[in-house]
Amino acid sequence: MPETTRHSYDVVVIGAGGAGLRAAIEARQQGKRTAIVSKSLFGKAHTVMAEGGAAAALGNVNAGDEWRVHFRDTLRGGKFMNNPRMVELHAQEAPQRILELEYWGALFDRTEQGRISQRNFGGHEYPRLAHVGDRTGLEMIRTLQQRVVQLQQADAAEHGDPDAMLRVFAETTVTELLTLPDPTSGGAGGRIAGAFGYDRETGDHLVFEAPAVILATGGIGRSFQVTSNSWEYTGDGHALALRAGAELLNMEFVQFHPTGMVWPPSVTGILVTESVRGDGGVLRDSEGRRFMFDYVPAVFRSQYAETEREADGWYSDPENNRRPPELLPRDEVARAINNEVKQGRGSPHGGVYLDIASRLPAEEITRRLPSMHHQFRELADVDITAEPMEVGPTCHYVMGGVAVDADTGAAGVPGLFAAGEVASGMHGSNRLGGNSLSDLLVFGRRSGLGAADYVTALGGEYPSPAPEDLERAAAAVDAPLERDRGEDPYALHHEIRAVMHELVGIIRSGSEIERALGELAQLRERVADVRATGGRVYNPGWHLALDLANMVLVSEAVARAALEREESRGGHTRDDFPEMSALWRRVTLAVSRADEGVALEHRPLEELPGELLELFDREELGKYLTAEEMPPEKDSAA
Ligand code: FAD
Repeated sequence: MPETTRHSYDVVVIGAGGAGLRAAIEARQQGKRTAIVSKSLFGKAHTVMAEGGAAAALGNVNAGDEWRVHFRDTLRGGKFMNNPRMVELHAQEAPQRILELEYWGALFDRTEQGRISQRNFGGHEYPRLAHVGDRTGLEMIRTLQQRVVQLQQADAAEHGDPDAMLRVFAETTVTELLTLPDPTSGGAGGRIAGAFGYDRETGDHLVFEAPAVILATGGIGRSFQVTSNSWEYTGDGHALALRAGAELLNMEFVQFHPTGMVWPPSVTGILVTESVRGDGGVLRDSEGRRFMFDYVPAVFRSQYAETEREADGWYSDPENNRRPPELLPRDEVARAINNEVKQGRGSPHGGVYLDIASRLPAEEITRRLPSMHHQFRELADVDITAEPMEVGPTCHYVMGGVAVDADTGAAGVPGLFAAGEVASGMHGSNRLGGNSLSDLLVFGRRSGLGAADYVTALGGEYPSPAPEDLERAAAAVDAPLERDRGEDPYALHHEIRAVMHELVGIIRSGSEIERALGELAQLRERVADVRATGGRVYNPGWHLALDLANMVLVSEAVARAALEREESRGGHTRDDFPEMSALWRRVTLAVSRADEGVALEHRPLEELPGELLELFDREELGKYLTAEEMPPEKDSAA
């Protein structure tokens, strides 16, 4: 029989990536007893894999940069589907969060003047990404963990116990949020009472009693066949939120990063950082043509170079040249690569060529891109200083996620908060590279504050989880191990990934998505009977069996929203509705839990405040907004 241990906290943070750590640090700094729960080893999260950098308008490399320019770029990148308040807070606060990280010990690369260096990235008008070579995420996590340890040392000195106020539960998976009827909602909704999970090492159960939970569980990429995401990213936080009564927004918007490895098969999908293009790398077809010049859409034409000469001139003289089209937002580049391959101009293994070797001296490549150099040499036997890389699109990031209040991260269910990739709104229909790492810091901190304020307002009256809910959660965790018959979790996982890759992938059509929904409904039933063999101790088959229901639920959310949105925008491309529509821009799709699968509702998108609309000229606004939304023309005589 498994043992059950109970823990009580003010705030439980689920996830130990950048968002989770920053949220936990804030909650602890506000004096709240805080737990950090992480499915993987402490320090192993997507954040640690981030390569290129964190976007913040510090203006260190080009003094023209400031928060309004960052705001404008982010909204353009998201094709005006972003939550404007989140974009505003992010652009304003990202510089403070980066400087805070430096104060806590992060060693960013420097400019010649000794300031934090910033690099170019797709969609950013100025060099904006604070970075540490191509290992920025590692430095971010190292610094945040160091801050956690610093706080624990202070607690050891004050309370005699380093875990007194802030404790890490690594290799612990949360499977259920515990809720109780909310007395303020007349019984209609629930409020958070804690979380239930299991220890991956022993298989034992854990109950966290807490009035506030912050979801910081990252993305959903493992539901797709080709992905840059690692094993943990099964959409757990998205599914936990849905089951607790929260809503997900924008789930149709899934980012396919243009450059993942395509060869050999064992490494397909592993990311090739955008820094390669930011530092001068170019994309070529099988005949050596720089094809991106053919794919600059009308909305971006005025901002991108028309000739190779102008594009190359931009690296040294950005005032007098426009940006290379290789640095268009990711959705545009991914679709272009997809089309080149489809037209028969791809590389031998179904990608295109990414060439940095002919663009920079070998020593400069190994200095700027040490991880990429190592990755290709070790995994593909390719020397990127001498030959081009073969690359193709890979499922990378989900723009959709838990609906949150921009200022506090509150997720609709009292006591529930969300931040980082699991939350929605900030990135609209397409995230700009570098904007995730800064998002984690800005909204991680805000959700930590939001949760701490919520707990303070309770005045010590904490709800206690109901015993029958604990029994139900425990039975659900043990069920796959107790079945005599049932399907193999690995085979089911393979099928889910194939359905999402083939029918709800980078280019979608209504009939294919309908087929996907039919197959996912069947998979939902089959997953309910999945069986895991073996014992409780470190049993990955059992762990996967428990993740599958989350993957199916979240995949249904993606497919339902993708079928509903009859336009193409950002990370959602319909070949039966190839145009972007100003009418659809006004609609946000909200997914909630229904008896069978998920339900969908249309919600109005938050309006852009007038003073921020003024950052764009009328011609550009006219490409996105309906006639009624357009600001009044300024009286030229006034
Ligand atoms: P993560 O860092 O993904 O952490 C999620 C945490 O939740 C983990 O600790 C995990 O164990 C835990 N968890 C999940 N489910 C459960 C559960 N059920 N119970 C308990 N714990 C759970 N963005 C940029 O801005 N710049 C870049 O240069 C960049 N490069 C990238 C490179 C790669 C290869 C990848 C994959 C992504 C990159 N991104 C980049 C995106 C960015 O890294 C992620 O979006 C971001 O790190 C997500 O952070 P997070 O804190 O939301 O979640």
